[in-house]
Amino acid sequence: MPLDEYWRKRDFSKTPEPSGRGGSRRPAAADRLFFCVQKHLASHLHYDFRLEHKGVLLSWAVPKGPSLDPKTKRLAMQTEDHPLDYGTFEGVIPSGYGAGIVMLWDQGTWTPQVDDVEAALKKGDLKFTLDGYKLKGSWVLVRTGGRYGSRGGGDARSWLLIKHRDEWAGELDITEFAPRSVKSDGDFEDILAADNPDVWESHRPAEGGEAGTMLRTIIERASRLRASRDAAAPASRPKAAASSANAAKRPAAGARKTRAAAPATTTARRTKTTARVKKAAPPRAKRARRSRS
Ligand code: MN
Repeated sequence: MPLDEYWRKRDFSKTPEPSGRGGSRRPAAADRLFFCVQKHLASHLHYDFRLEHKGVLLSWAVPKGPSLDPKTKRLAMQTEDHPLDYGTFEGVIPSGYGAGIVMLWDQGTWTPQVDDVEAALKKGDLKFTLDGYKLKGSWVLVRTGGRYGSRGGGDARSWLLIKHRDEWAGELDITEFAPRSVKSDGDFEDILAADNPDVWESHRPAEGGEAGTMLRTIIERASRLRASRDAAAPASRPKAAASSANAAKRPAAGARKTRAAAPATTTARRTKTTARVKKAAPPRAKRARRSRS
């Protein structure tokens, strides 16, 4: 069973992650294959790259996230297959395996550039195109280690995720440029604030290092977001007083967070995200320059 490892690692009485048991719905249209990238702040920050194949999501953890620059090859460690309905999951894993915050960073459909995906995976060379909000065009996953790896030896789970040269390639740092969720338009602190930041007062998933520092900041911001929302909540409170109280409490950096708190339809949010990504002119501009030369 392809999901055995996924199930073995998790206690579904303690994690909000989908169990994938019983009728998992396909997030993509019937004739398209789904893909997603989940930004996951756990013991380390990484990006989980997932491709739908034969009823599950093949998964790779990409520590630095995808790069649009064909010269920048990104390490992708293959991890256990995930159930299809994991593909739209976003939320807080309070404890246990993968404890941390999961953000749906990109989603869309993928198309293999080979007839036989199974053979390509076995060979360790899978070419495909992506049609997401942030990632588009032609890509390849190449296995670097293990029995079928070109260098022999090494870890069989070790692959590289590489962008092919096309109109969607460029030097833009997409993880910096478009850091937020395509589902909620929120950042990590918004996702945590929607849950319960207090969960981690004493038991943080990442204690030390870069991820620990990042998480500490996020917990503080989420707590402030929660406090300001709770303060603004009572209907009896005059609006002006509430907002000036918030303004006094909230540091300047928190200002951009209010946008995510405002009600908006999913479509509007998606359009916003897409519109922002479309401003990613550099790849297109680059193509124009190239084709002229
Ligand atoms: Mn992960």
